[in-house]
Amino acid sequence: MEHPENNAEYKGLVVNAGIEQPASVNPYLKNRPRRKKRELSVADYVDGIVKGNTTVLGQAVTLVESLKPGHQAVAQEVIEKCLPYAGNSVRVGISGVPGAGKSTSIDVFGLHVLEQYGGKLAVLAIDPSSERSKGSILGDKTRMEKLSVHPRSFIRPSPSAGSLGGVARKTRETIILCEAAGFDKIFVETVGVGQSETAVHSMVDFFLLIQLAGTGDELQGIKRGIMEMADGIVINKADGDNLERAKLAATQFRNALHLFPAPESGWTPQVLTYSGFYNLGVKEIWDMIYQYIDFVKANGYFGYRRNEQNKYWMYETINEQLRGSFYHNPKIEAMLPDCERQVLQGNLTSFAAAKSLLDAYFKD
Ligand code: GDP
Repeated sequence: MEHPENNAEYKGLVVNAGIEQPASVNPYLKNRPRRKKRELSVADYVDGIVKGNTTVLGQAVTLVESLKPGHQAVAQEVIEKCLPYAGNSVRVGISGVPGAGKSTSIDVFGLHVLEQYGGKLAVLAIDPSSERSKGSILGDKTRMEKLSVHPRSFIRPSPSAGSLGGVARKTRETIILCEAAGFDKIFVETVGVGQSETAVHSMVDFFLLIQLAGTGDELQGIKRGIMEMADGIVINKADGDNLERAKLAATQFRNALHLFPAPESGWTPQVLTYSGFYNLGVKEIWDMIYQYIDFVKANGYFGYRRNEQNKYWMYETINEQLRGSFYHNPKIEAMLPDCERQVLQGNLTSFAAAKSLLDAYFKD
């Protein structure tokens, strides 16, 4: 249809014909060579970290987590150079089954310690399931809404590649980098499913176990070993209808703890109730943790435990490297499926199979 405005009689505004869209705003742009991102040197990393630059810290953590041998070599150098600046922190492990309220609690705990004690907080995670699910559950920034936007916090999800030992070692190395960057409070979060607690316990000063009051038989579900590792047990969701049950659960835990041998630290593990959601009883938990830190610093256990942890990680690293070297050996990779089949078919005992594999490996 003809526009009435284009009629010669029309006295109003005129509609002009449109112009053709150019193919590209700047046709020369795509020919421009892309500038390569400059790789940081070891000195750049260390300098940035020590100055507290969290962007550089994040890049260094990515390097630690990288599987590329070249990256790992640089990462190890960075870690070594950061070591003299590390160690000055309170490291707290926080564990609990999914749904126990870890993310809700860490958000509240984090804000509390930053307000009450100042300093900077890093939240790291060890999630042994992340390899299988190809994505980390823990340490997800969106789960800690307030903390993730706090200017003095650094949140990093679980490294996702490798064995539990490998994942845990990377988290431990990240602790060193964070400390060198001035983070004086470190939380290490893990899912309460068993093995990962041992890994967390081996890198923290205080191990906090979050529990829920349940059906009255809550103690049965918890492995004795995990309870023995705890320096403090806190029963979450002590609010509303659940308050009395939480108190009852606390009593049951206290009674159960009496049956365990006294911990090496000389500290009696405490059991408290709280509500992360309503922010009740949170101050008491952190008063307890800092009381513990003062106590073990005074009796020498703080330094002793960290030294023991260093020793543990030396052996863990050796074991991990040996295991990797063995299973990635081409001869072993070629022999393994057949050996496994023979053991399954009952043609070969497990010991004989292991011996032939090990002999082949050591003959290299
Ligand atoms: P996570 O899986 O251990 O990280 O647990 P979340 O922090 O995601 O919490 C699991 C569920 O429990 C969520 O629906 C929370 O809203 C709820 N929750 C967490 N803390 C409390 C609490 O103190 N009281 C109550 N009533 N609910 C809570």
